[in-house]
Amino acid sequence: MGVPTTGNEIRKAYLDFFKSKEHKVVPSSSLVPENDPTLLLANAGMNQFKPYFLGTLPFPHKVPYAASCQKCFRTGDLERVGYTARHHTFFEMLGNFSFGGYFKKEAIAWGWEFVTEVLKIDKSLLYVSVYEKDDEAIELWKKTAGLPPERIARMGEDSNFWTMGPTGPCGPCSEIYVDLSPEKGPTKDFETDAEAGRFLEIWNLVFTQFDKQEDGSLKPLPKPNIDTGMGLERVASVMQKVPSNFETDLLSPLVAAIAKAGGLSTPSPSDTSKAQTYTSLKVISDHLRATTFLIADGVLPSNEGRGYVLRRILRRAVRHGKLLGFDKPFLSPLTLEVGKLMGAVYPEVAERKDHILNVVRAEEERFYETLASGTERLMEKIEGLKKSKAIVLSGEEAFTLYDTYGFPLDITKEILKEKGLSVDEKGFQVAMEGQKERARSGWKGSGDAALPALYKEMAAKMPTTGFTGYEKTKDLGSVAKIVRVKDRKHEEVPTLAEGDYGFVLLDKTPFYAEKGGQVGDKGTIQGFNSAEVAWADVLDTQMVSETLVGHWCHMKRGQLKAGQKVEATVEESERRATMRNHTGTHLLHAALRQVLGSHVGQAGSYVGPDRLRFDFTHFEGVKPEQLKRIETLVNQRILDNLAVSKEEMTFDEAKKKGALAFFSEKYGDRVRVVDVPGFSMEFCGGTHVDRTGDIGLFKVLSESSVASGVRRIEAVTGEGSQALVTEKEGVLRDLSHLLKGTEAELKPKVQALLDELKAKDRELASLKSKLAGGLVEELLSKKTSVKGVSLVVARTNDLDSDGMRQLTDSLKDKMGSGVIVLGSGTPSFVGFVAGVTKDLTGKVKAGDLVKEAAKVTGGGGGGRPDFAQAGGKDASKVDEALRQVTALLEKTLP
Ligand code: ATP
Ligand code: MG
Repeated sequence: MGVPTTGNEIRKAYLDFFKSKEHKVVPSSSLVPENDPTLLLANAGMNQFKPYFLGTLPFPHKVPYAASCQKCFRTGDLERVGYTARHHTFFEMLGNFSFGGYFKKEAIAWGWEFVTEVLKIDKSLLYVSVYEKDDEAIELWKKTAGLPPERIARMGEDSNFWTMGPTGPCGPCSEIYVDLSPEKGPTKDFETDAEAGRFLEIWNLVFTQFDKQEDGSLKPLPKPNIDTGMGLERVASVMQKVPSNFETDLLSPLVAAIAKAGGLSTPSPSDTSKAQTYTSLKVISDHLRATTFLIADGVLPSNEGRGYVLRRILRRAVRHGKLLGFDKPFLSPLTLEVGKLMGAVYPEVAERKDHILNVVRAEEERFYETLASGTERLMEKIEGLKKSKAIVLSGEEAFTLYDTYGFPLDITKEILKEKGLSVDEKGFQVAMEGQKERARSGWKGSGDAALPALYKEMAAKMPTTGFTGYEKTKDLGSVAKIVRVKDRKHEEVPTLAEGDYGFVLLDKTPFYAEKGGQVGDKGTIQGFNSAEVAWADVLDTQMVSETLVGHWCHMKRGQLKAGQKVEATVEESERRATMRNHTGTHLLHAALRQVLGSHVGQAGSYVGPDRLRFDFTHFEGVKPEQLKRIETLVNQRILDNLAVSKEEMTFDEAKKKGALAFFSEKYGDRVRVVDVPGFSMEFCGGTHVDRTGDIGLFKVLSESSVASGVRRIEAVTGEGSQALVTEKEGVLRDLSHLLKGTEAELKPKVQALLDELKAKDRELASLKSKLAGGLVEELLSKKTSVKGVSLVVARTNDLDSDGMRQLTDSLKDKMGSGVIVLGSGTPSFVGFVAGVTKDLTGKVKAGDLVKEAAKVTGGGGGGRPDFAQAGGKDASKVDEALRQVTALLEKTLP
């Protein structure tokens, strides 16, 4: 093969090269990380290999070497995209990995070999950076690559020492750079020139050789690892000798397609007058690709987590489209271009193209509605800032733009930056928190829209309610505050009197307050240090502020006083049922991902004592055989009776467990990890059973669609599934009684019944037609004659208009020549039909006959001379109407 130049050739050459060095080539994992709740989106090739890297699993290959081309997404680079030649949100990362196998020497030698002998990049253009204290690497670069010292840049800890967290695996790294402007001669400041784009980092080799201790000391790892990452788009730009990733064959077709859709010519990147246009094209092409891949992997737009990442980039692309002059939604059809360009390598973007298109279209249209008014508002604010010579937009205003106009903070920031202004990001977060607080405290129990500020004021002065419900369902505590709720008014009171409703706040409680899909506990609070018996029913438990648990109480007997000692007892059987359903939900989630794929993500859930409901992203209905496998898988894990571990740990400890990136805005300092070993691991604050066997039988009730790309499964466990089985047995037993047979006989018996029914239907039809034939004979026998014309007049109450028409036709056939008038009259139907054989239509018209007849009953109608229908009103006058027919005919006939 010649020198690989296209993106596809480079990808293949890389994987082939490492395959020839005994590496196992592993396909990219989904952008949505599997079994790693701590990671928002895949951001390095390393992610999917974490268990091998940490040594928790052995790598299944003859040697512990792997290579991959991984789909990556970096939110951290979002704001740079469009403004640098080398950054994307979504990009492909080539990587080779060693899990305790080869180390620095081979990693450097092979890296150098690939770059200089496969890619054949001119050695004189290559530079490397090393961690300043990593003498070993410096020596290796000198020896293996023959690099002179001036092309080995020693860099500090912040850029060239990789750590997974404050403690845990870490080590120095070494990057390979390409000089894009060799004509500038030797560099004086490598790092600055690199940041400015003269030296392009293409590959980073990480030598994970230490385990950082609490005290900061570095303990050598017994088996060091290699983890490398090389950006495919960047290498392609070098190989294709173009100044930016966006001009490579991996992206330029998208840039061209966007320009074409907008009726623009692709500007030359060097034309500075078109810089803004080109920036927008770069932003859109990157975000278009990223959007397509995120949706293909199951992400849907939403206001948090992955869904919000998707929403942000999609909206940013739409805004840049507006800058380019698009005046209506344009993005969705362009997703098809991504499918065409990349579908051969990543089939998911081609296979799911319709779904992707629909999701993008809906989201784009939604944002379009507010984009113009939001932009106008922001422009006004910018004018205002300029007038008052201010340079910072308030956080509150940025939040209004976010909340009312759908402007992600990035967009507001970017627009402001274009005008040399900025935004108060802290203020934005404060406003956001305020709103979240308002949303969280939406209290439905009392019928109030939101909880009053009262609770917030209390929370500021009170410690967080202690939660003891993980260990017990009954606990002692004291009443901290009482808020009586009467006529929708919340008022702090010293006592809750008999019959009152209100929130009782305790210093600590075993009651779980509704969150994370799990319902609030029910139970009782009993006062026990007074002579009289006093107790309140707890009807629900809610967070009344971010830190305070409110027991929604109905005071049944006696009264509760602030400060008094109480015993809080959770309704245990319900709580246990809820716990079964909660752990069952985790098992279901894991089983769904195993059977359907890792694109399955949680889109909502309900966990109560009665049932569980799990909403998740998936493109089509779950097929019956898949559903069966999912159910079986869950029940197998239940039968394995695995211990469910629930561990509270710090953020850093969780990181150590194997996380590389976090939903930074979503989780607090301490996280709780619920782990069903080897099957499911989730961040979760809910209550769970101790062993999976506690769940009992898991039975799916239904599978259905909630929205485009979102499915719902409802299921029961424990007593719920027992009740279900009992109910189904009951149905079977009733059927057996009715059919007088055993359960085994039900199916053949029902089949026999159905066959019999069919035969009866046939019989009935033939009888009916025979009966109709009989009717014809009967009516013919009552035929009269008026002026030589045969006449049949009859009342046909059993027939509807169709039947009357058929009867008229049959009579016409039999009579050969004559006039027929039929009338029906029942409370639901009054009508007349008249037929005149063709030979007589010159003398008498069917229409006239029915018209006259119908008139008598208060109706009307008409039709052709040979056939006519009319509706009547008064059924009691039908006979009278029919009696007039003979006279009428007499008058009419000549
Ligand atoms: P930079 O400093 O240029 O942002 P980085 O130090 O963040 O790069 P690494 O985390 O070492 O990069 O990632 C390994 C390789 O992945 C880089 O050498 C580069 O080729 C590629 N890469 C990293 N971030 C991006 C990005 N946002 N877009 C495209 N390629 C990237
Ligand atoms: Mg970076």
